[in-house]
Amino acid sequence: MKTLIALPAVFSLVTGVAHAEQSADIRITRAGTQPSIQGSAENFTGAVRVDSLFKADSPARIGGGTVTFEPGARTAWHTHPLGQTLIVVAGVGYVQKESGPRQEIRPGDVVWIPPSVRHWHGATATNGMTHIALAEALEGKAVTWAEKLSDTEYEGMRQ
Ligand code: MN
Repeated sequence: MKTLIALPAVFSLVTGVAHAEQSADIRITRAGTQPSIQGSAENFTGAVRVDSLFKADSPARIGGGTVTFEPGARTAWHTHPLGQTLIVVAGVGYVQKESGPRQEIRPGDVVWIPPSVRHWHGATATNGMTHIALAEALEGKAVTWAEKLSDTEYEGMRQ
């Protein structure tokens, strides 16, 4: 019987496949176990609530959170080294890349922001917006923040 128990380990050595992940347990992060945090005034304008959802274990590098913007609230300009996916779940919002059109986004819309594209996202002036944000980290970093969005830029009168 001892031989049988040792077989998976031998198989791993032969194939070079790590079996540690396969024997790991499923993890359920229960709702309410991670406190909501306020979006920092350095990287956001207006009232923004961030609820972290998950950060995958290496070698996976995806992480995600739910972000809720009150009317008029938005991110600063920023980029993501490996891009970002936004899944809109409530309200009405905007997303815009630099020198591109400001686009309205609504629940059910899925937005792909390509790597290194400078952009912002947020609520409209009259309605809040909530999205799930998913991004992969490159060398531990999923976002690079730049300057805050001016009111003129937000209002779409920049071009
Ligand atoms: Mn983004």
